[in-house]
Amino acid sequence: MDASLSAATASVMAVTNVAEASAKKPQKWDKTVNVVIIGSGDAGLATAVSAAERGVKDILVLEKLAFLGGNTAIATGAFNTADPKQKEQGIEDSPELHAQQTLKGGDFRGNPDLVNTLTHNSYDTLKWLESKGVKFQPKILQVYGALWPRSHATAASKGSDYIRVLSEEAKKLGVMIQTQAKVVDIIRENQLSGRVLGVEYVNKDGQHVFVRALKAVVACPGGFAANREMRSMHDPRLYNLTTTNNPAASTGEVLVMMQDIGANVTGMDHI
Ligand SMILES: Cc1cc2nc3c(=O)[nH]c(=O)nc-3n(C[C@H](O)[C@H](O)[C@H](O)COP(=O)(O)OP(=O)(O)OC[C@H]3O[C@@H](n4cnc5c(N)ncnc54)[C@H](O)[C@@H]3O)c2cc1C
Repeated sequence: MDASLSAATASVMAVTNVAEASAKKPQKWDKTVNVVIIGSGDAGLATAVSAAERGVKDILVLEKLAFLGGNTAIATGAFNTADPKQKEQGIEDSPELHAQQTLKGGDFRGNPDLVNTLTHNSYDTLKWLESKGVKFQPKILQVYGALWPRSHATAASKGSDYIRVLSEEAKKLGVMIQTQAKVVDIIRENQLSGRVLGVEYVNKDGQHVFVRALKAVVACPGGFAANREMRSMHDPRLYNLTTTNNPAASTGEVLVMMQDIGANVTGMDHI
């Protein structure tokens, strides 16, 4: 190869790499924490509490809305799991049956490994939630749409029961929770390689804040049911539908940010 050409190619590549590397990284981080969690629904708060009780310090939950809980806060909150207590009501059940019915309920498009992980860990999760203070009604029900009576309703039959308990627990454990903090970018060392370094969010005053996450960024931003362009991209029949989701929460922008830095998505057409 011509030496000058290869030198020129190398320098173009170097410039591209520098541009790529520095495109999103701030000159200076405004805050440094160990873990950033995007979203304060059940997934985000359970992650925060679980990490904090294992000794992780400096956890920051970022929530774009002015209140916590996303869709979890407006859900009915029925929790499905096989439970030894079902026997008292004459109901036979097992994690295996729960898995079979979950796969069937999803037209066998679900990932059996993930479904089994769910059904074999859901009882321990129920016990964990109880240990944090979530109260469940004694009678096990069959929530609408379910294939078997294994639904546990919270005391008030509201998803907000989880949010109240988990947010109080998170605060007790020293987790920092910031509302009106909309994540607008996830920053990776390079656009498509290297570690995720942190996030950029916009606060209630419109200021852009860069947070370095030394250990992890965990994305728990919920779904995209309220984003009609995004949902009709995956299934054009869904353009004109309305949604039962919180329209301000389920907008899907974090999914796009994750894809922008190389994450894969699956099952988007099963919304
Ligand atoms: C009406 C209704 C009833 C339901 N009933 C049940 C039920 O009985 N049982 C059941 O198991 N499931 C039920 N579901 C489904 C259940 O609510 C969801 O699967 C669950 O709440 C998802 O939790 P999550 O933490 O992943 O998302 P969410 O609870 O939606 O939390 C995501 C959070 O991320 C925030 N967020 C999003 N983007 C950003 C951003 N850019 N920056 C910062 N924050 C961001 C959102 O504002 C939101 O607060 C129901 C749903 C609805 C709508």
